[in-house]
Amino acid sequence: REEFCVKINTAVEAFCVEGEIVNYKQYGNGHINDTFIVNCQKNQTSKRYILQRMNHEIFTEPEKLIANIESVTHFLKTRIQEKGGDPERETLNLVYTKEGKYYYKDSIGCYWRMYNFIEDAASLEQVRKKEDFYQSAVSFGNFQRLLTSFDASKLYETIPDFHNTPVRYQTFLKAVKEDVCNRAASVKKEIDFYISHKEDMELCAKKLADGALPLRVTHNDTKLNNIMIDNKTGKGVCVIDLDTVMPGLAIFDFGDSIRFGANTAVEDEQDLSKVHLDLELFETYVKGYLEGCSGSLTDMEIEMLPYGAKTMAMECGMRFLTDYLQGDTYFRVHREGHNLDRCRTQLRLVEDMEMKWDEMQKIVLKYR
Ligand code: ATP
Ligand code: MG
Ligand code: MG
Repeated sequence: REEFCVKINTAVEAFCVEGEIVNYKQYGNGHINDTFIVNCQKNQTSKRYILQRMNHEIFTEPEKLIANIESVTHFLKTRIQEKGGDPERETLNLVYTKEGKYYYKDSIGCYWRMYNFIEDAASLEQVRKKEDFYQSAVSFGNFQRLLTSFDASKLYETIPDFHNTPVRYQTFLKAVKEDVCNRAASVKKEIDFYISHKEDMELCAKKLADGALPLRVTHNDTKLNNIMIDNKTGKGVCVIDLDTVMPGLAIFDFGDSIRFGANTAVEDEQDLSKVHLDLELFETYVKGYLEGCSGSLTDMEIEMLPYGAKTMAMECGMRFLTDYLQGDTYFRVHREGHNLDRCRTQLRLVEDMEMKWDEMQKIVLKYR
């Protein structure tokens, strides 16, 4: 602990802040990185920064991760400037170290980075009203639009095969075959579901492989609390938390938001009668996302938005089931069968989407 405090000290000192450092303290509700706010003072004005110790256990190649963030934020900055926006506020801005880098590696091997603090805005833990969900959709849509001409293949895949559903399916089959905890027999129904949905689940990946869906810059953590909402206007200001920016499918960013944002139940709900796709929330997100994207998605991408949602729910449920079969080694569990409950919730959501499929498609075409 003491050593860690010393490291924060040296980390704060490593960056080129404006003015004098007044103090710093832990900040926010992030679960991945250690986040601090740094207060500085220059003449009579104060300036704030976000300092983060990156989680190099999850992201094992921090230099590549920072390189991704650097290229994406620089590109965004230029686009925002061209459009007469405020590049200080509408994207994250990395701060240089005194050595002219965007990260600082301390003597115990921890990696740190700093951003300008986005003032007069908040990241919300919970949807207060439908408008918040809509604003997050607009923000993630804007993000996609501004990055349309960015060559996504230039980004590092910091978590290889993150949404490579066919690869995840093979991992699942292996877990079923190995059955190290002797659990497979008791979840035959769930296993059969995935085997019967193989083609459905791999459809998006096939469309990417044959060029029908374009490779895009994707965010991969499209939660509400990863956008900043303006305190005065209530409008989305920008997208933050760019750790998982990678090449991928836009419909998967969309789909993941639907999977957790338009589900009427919590992710580990045991009473499956509570699990539904909320079509109103679905429509809200579609509207916001397509407004934000405003013409930058292809017809095929728009048509396949419902597939993005369904694939994300199927893939996520399959990962929970895989972990259950492997003895709960990846996702943290708080009760017996926790991962199985999570899997069943996703499967129930998929079934509900299948029942509402026509309506989902109609909604998407309405806002095209
Ligand atoms: P998660 O659990 O979502 O993965 P994380 O640990 O990766 O979170 P961030 O989302 O990057 O961390 O940051 C944590 C919080 O710090 C954000 O939710 C937000 O409140 C705040 N924050 C991050 N960057 C900024 C910024 N540039 N300006 C203002 N606040 C910020
Ligand atoms: Mg976050
Ligand atoms: Mg994060």
